[in-house]
Amino acid sequence: MKLSPYWLDIGVSEQRFTNAITDSTDVLVIGGGLTGLSASLTLASKGTNVTLIESGEIAGEASGRNGGQCNNGTLQDYGSLVKLYGESKAREFYLAYNSAVDNIEQLVRELEIECDFRRNGKLKLASKPGHVERLKRTRDVLQTSGVDPDTKLLSKSDLEQEIQSDVYFAGLLQPLSATLHVGKFCKGLANVAEQKGASICEFTQAQKIVKVENGWLVNTNRGMIRTKSILMATGGSGNTPAHWFKRRVIPVGSFVIVTEPLAESTASALLPEARSYVNTLNIGNYFRLTSDHRLLFGGRAKFAVSNPKSDHQSATILTKTMTTTFPQLKGVGVDYCWGGSVDMSADRMPKLGQCNGIYYAMGYSGHGVQMAVQSGQEIAKHMLGEQTSSPWLNAPWKAIPAYTGKPWFLPFVGWYYQFMDKVD
Ligand SMILES: Cc1cc2nc3c(=O)[nH]c(=O)nc-3n(C[C@H](O)[C@H](O)[C@H](O)COP(=O)(O)OP(=O)(O)OC[C@H]3O[C@@H](n4cnc5c(N)ncnc54)[C@H](O)[C@@H]3O)c2cc1C
Repeated sequence: MKLSPYWLDIGVSEQRFTNAITDSTDVLVIGGGLTGLSASLTLASKGTNVTLIESGEIAGEASGRNGGQCNNGTLQDYGSLVKLYGESKAREFYLAYNSAVDNIEQLVRELEIECDFRRNGKLKLASKPGHVERLKRTRDVLQTSGVDPDTKLLSKSDLEQEIQSDVYFAGLLQPLSATLHVGKFCKGLANVAEQKGASICEFTQAQKIVKVENGWLVNTNRGMIRTKSILMATGGSGNTPAHWFKRRVIPVGSFVIVTEPLAESTASALLPEARSYVNTLNIGNYFRLTSDHRLLFGGRAKFAVSNPKSDHQSATILTKTMTTTFPQLKGVGVDYCWGGSVDMSADRMPKLGQCNGIYYAMGYSGHGVQMAVQSGQEIAKHMLGEQTSSPWLNAPWKAIPAYTGKPWFLPFVGWYYQFMDKVD
């Protein structure tokens, strides 16, 4: 079993982006995940002199470690969003995710990025009988509000056509969602950004940022870069050189396993519609097929950061849950297991704006495949003084009390959610 992401191993070239760093640039993008890549592409396409530095390899963190689910819909239930923010804001937030999925489809088509993009819908599966009513309420509100009118509720018997597992009680189908191969997509974005003139420098870590007249000096492990402006696109990896972000982004571990290739007939019997799937538990699971007929199965197996020990332990936990869900997969080999940090914000909303003159986009809270790309574009447009449509731009973002980058409270949150999953 490899303890590294399938997405960076299968179907992608070993091409590296190791330009020499320049002494000066107009915009320095820090972070080579989906946010940084899409911002760099947008800036370079508009003729801006842009350099992207990435401390590891392109897509080496969350952007190449996720489930490859490009879902519409907000993380929070739409009804709760309406209660918290009012109908008009909730609608804006929800529609932003719809358009973020459309945006990926359009980019894939226009830039001709081969990345197995498929608009096959998301099925949210009720893990307990009591959750069926909740899905029904969500279906009703999404239909009546008109934000996702084609959403359908599938009964337990409807699920027989959808999934070869009898552990679920109903499903909510949201047809606008998609899946893609994130490794191929990220490499594709990087290539086009370079063709448009962006300079991408892997293995270049920003270590210190100093304000100087007309811009910034950024100290990296490969030398000093002078820049007029900075975009911080450092996600949830916790390596940002700016303390301000460490007090606001919470890195939460999530883990993924990928099986060996299944026979095509086994895979299509298991999940005939090859959608993206999530369940309704707080500490839930997500899964999907890959284009070479493997099952990818993920979840918050452990409240831990990714390292070889916790990856191995997570592989054991996830394999057990996978075979409880699909007993027919007992004995199937697991070829990959990896973990990554989800970039949570306290209110689980994306964050885009400017702090002390440094621009940022992050905090997608586990829904970043589509939103990181959209937010990278939006913040790039904002930096150029153009009109943007992000409902989150420049929203206030408070520091989390008693938090400086080490999420000491996560075990307590974990216990709370475990308890809620037992009683709810
Ligand atoms: C296991 C897992 C599963 C997920 N599943 C899904 C999913 O199925 N669907 C979905 O929508 N979302 C999912 N997400 C969330 C999604 O992957 C992220 O929200 C998204 O990729 C964030 O992109 P980003 O570019 O902002 O951050 P990242 O991809 O984390 O990129 C930030 C980059 O900045 C670099 N960096 C950090 N500090 C420095 C520095 N000082 N100098 C230079 N570079 C630096 C890092 O090395 C990193 O590559 C998942 C996340 C994880 C971890």
